[in-house]
Amino acid sequence: MAILSLKNVSKHFDSTPAVAEVSLNVERGEFFGLLGPSGCGKTTTLRMIAGLEKPDFGTIEFEGKDITNLSPEHRGFGMVFQNYALFPHLNVFENVAFGLRARHKPKPEIAERVTSALELVQLPKYEKRRVDELSGGQQQRVAIARAIAIEPALLLFDEPLSNLDVALREETRGELRELVNRLGLTAVYVTHDQEEAFALCDRTSVMMRGCILQTGKPRELYEHPAQISVARFLGRNNIIKVTRLSSSNPPFSEFKTLQGDHTLRLPTRDNELASMNKPSVLAIRPEHLLITRNSEGSENVLPARVRELNFAGATSSIKLDANGLQLEALVLQSGSFAIGDSCFITLPAEWLSLLKDGGGTETV
Ligand code: ATP
Repeated sequence: MAILSLKNVSKHFDSTPAVAEVSLNVERGEFFGLLGPSGCGKTTTLRMIAGLEKPDFGTIEFEGKDITNLSPEHRGFGMVFQNYALFPHLNVFENVAFGLRARHKPKPEIAERVTSALELVQLPKYEKRRVDELSGGQQQRVAIARAIAIEPALLLFDEPLSNLDVALREETRGELRELVNRLGLTAVYVTHDQEEAFALCDRTSVMMRGCILQTGKPRELYEHPAQISVARFLGRNNIIKVTRLSSSNPPFSEFKTLQGDHTLRLPTRDNELASMNKPSVLAIRPEHLLITRNSEGSENVLPARVRELNFAGATSSIKLDANGLQLEALVLQSGSFAIGDSCFITLPAEWLSLLKDGGGTETV
């Protein structure tokens, strides 16, 4: 059963719709991500979970109880923000002890919990240090220690690593994940960084314009985006406009590409049929295209010409023209191909995704 549920939660600021009918379930012990571009409503969603904003509509439940109108103090959630929100005039001990004092815990318990939280974030014996004498990474660990010291029922993170440099961000990311696992905590983590969400989270919701477009495990989102916006947001993708051939039906359907007039065949499910009666869109990652000199196999093999070659270190990008259909392939070695060469591109059926209509607002 879900430990946290948002049901049709919406929030406006004046005339700006920040969050629109968001529903999601977070399981106990899960590291859950909210991923999306700037302004898509991630922080507002997190602040409503924390109790720092009140939804206009919808309900928030925690452990089966409606907490929509409960104050932040009574929710018992730990929070870590991008700017650490530490008190510069207090030392490390007092910063970590802050939530415990607010909860009127006895002195010996405060001392014990602060010491153990600082040990967990690998800052033992830092109690007396001023926070403005610490590095960014150390300050962020103090902020994490403060959040876990209250033994939170839920940990909320809002871009907590974005002020750290790349190497430290990766290191702290690993430590954070390990710590949350070790303490058996449930976490909701807001980020605009796909790599961070994929590295940290068991499941992630992709948000855009206040709505959740898709929720899934990192690999599902990456390999099978359900909508054009998700496919575009999660890195490079070949987006192919098609129409379904009316004679074809699940479990395999055939599509005609609008550019190039190629026939592509892929597995489909009955519940996807509705969107197949109008023009549809397929997506395939550049790294999933296979390029060969000679035609190998017959399914989804398109004759093409090499248009552009871009060496980028470990991988190379090859831009291809298949009778007017422009595609990009990422390969480990571009081998002996040169611009203008003829070749064959295979689009393996298992890597092709049939996208849902992007709400009519997306162009391809
Ligand atoms: P970022 O990654 O840039 O922080 P976000 O995805 O977290 O963005 P939110 O901060 O939730 O997005 O903002 C969603 C929308 O609500 C934006 O259009 C923002 O301008 C607006 N908004 C957020 N907070 C307020 C506020 N207090 N008053 C007015 N508008 C707000």
